[in-house]
Amino acid sequence: MKVIKFGGSSVASATQLKKVLAIVKSDVTRRFVVVSAPGKRNNEDQKVTDLLIAYYEAVKVKTDTTEITQAILRRYGVMAEELGISEELCQQFQAELAELKNNFDESNPYMLDAFLATGENLNAQLIANFFKNSGLDARYINPKELGIQVSAQPHNARILEKSYEKIYQWRDSNDILVIPGFFGFTEEGQICTFSRGGSDITGSIVAAGLKADCYENFTDVDGIFAANPKYIHDPELIDVLTYREMRELSYAGFKVFHDEALMPSYHAKIPVVIKNTNNPNCTGTIITESYNKAKHHNEVVGVASDGGFCSITIAKYLLNREIGIVRKILQVFEDLDISFEHMPSGIDDISIVLREEQLTPEIEKALLENIENAISPDLMEIEHDLSVLALVGEGMRDRPGTTAESAAALARKNISLRMISQGADERSIIFVIRGDQERQAVRSIYYTFFD
Ligand code: ASP
Repeated sequence: MKVIKFGGSSVASATQLKKVLAIVKSDVTRRFVVVSAPGKRNNEDQKVTDLLIAYYEAVKVKTDTTEITQAILRRYGVMAEELGISEELCQQFQAELAELKNNFDESNPYMLDAFLATGENLNAQLIANFFKNSGLDARYINPKELGIQVSAQPHNARILEKSYEKIYQWRDSNDILVIPGFFGFTEEGQICTFSRGGSDITGSIVAAGLKADCYENFTDVDGIFAANPKYIHDPELIDVLTYREMRELSYAGFKVFHDEALMPSYHAKIPVVIKNTNNPNCTGTIITESYNKAKHHNEVVGVASDGGFCSITIAKYLLNREIGIVRKILQVFEDLDISFEHMPSGIDDISIVLREEQLTPEIEKALLENIENAISPDLMEIEHDLSVLALVGEGMRDRPGTTAESAAALARKNISLRMISQGADERSIIFVIRGDQERQAVRSIYYTFFD
């Protein structure tokens, strides 16, 4: 039995929904269908979730909401009309949108979540209706009825463990269940969403709860590529990778699959398959538990990169002998509520790499001053606009020379390495480089290991 999830672009128009129907119909084991809100139909289009945020803002400042509600309703209306769905459903949608406005309460921390969740909730109803009209025994199910209970963290919910048992009760449902992604309910009964892009998380939770054989995640690309197509023309498609490899790739910029979404499938050991709604015959990418060289599993699976980092390098003579010095530095970070990403060190120096978005000029000043006061370093430098490049693969540990070949490739292009860091498990090698050299660095490393 499979849980299948369709992302925003797969459920954005009637044409796409016809493809979705064909995919569900083509495999009788596809019994649970999780859907996103309608996404973009083209580059100029807007996601329904973004329209709902605009609706929320308009209600909040009490401006006229006619135009925005019409824009939202039109998205569903156009699909309903083309799919022959009764007008009644759209009238019901109109009433649901009006209700959001009528019950608006700015002091309720879950108010935005109620708006956000509406995109998926209406779409699931529309899709269930379409499936039914097309001869499938299908029905819409609300996440509350299904048992998705979440923590009380507005727009950033976490699943509560007890949900899994409840979801399992639906395993033998006679109907195909169409489930809106992206939200659950708190113990007090409030709608609460996951972080943006969170329908992937719902799919994974449902698959884990039902102990499904597989979680299929349909999107608008053939799978996970070994490098960002923005930098590499026609990069290799990864056939198979492990959960851990996926996590490392998504950390450094691979955004095909929400990084929080892996956890439930990972714990329940359910394989995740990334597939393309527009090319369903392509086998896609399978994310599994363990590395298996025999099964098309490359030693190096991909190269990812992400910009927007900075590093603070701190040097002090005999730093290595000063007990507690790292704790003192990190205490400064903690006091200012700043997280760090990497911390490579030398004998008498240490560098701390962090995401630059956490720093305002004031915070940066406070950070440097507080470190100065805490440990009186001989030297302290901050370098902005850095990129992190991650070369990922569980098989790298059995492949001597990976770091050497990567460094040589960068050197040939005159790219200076600011830092290298490798975890003890040798699952990834992290290179820190100048931001303006990111593209070239990805290219030179990609062509060293793939082609
Ligand atoms: N519709 C939500 C968003 O745009 C969730 C999702 O599509 O996964 O973030």
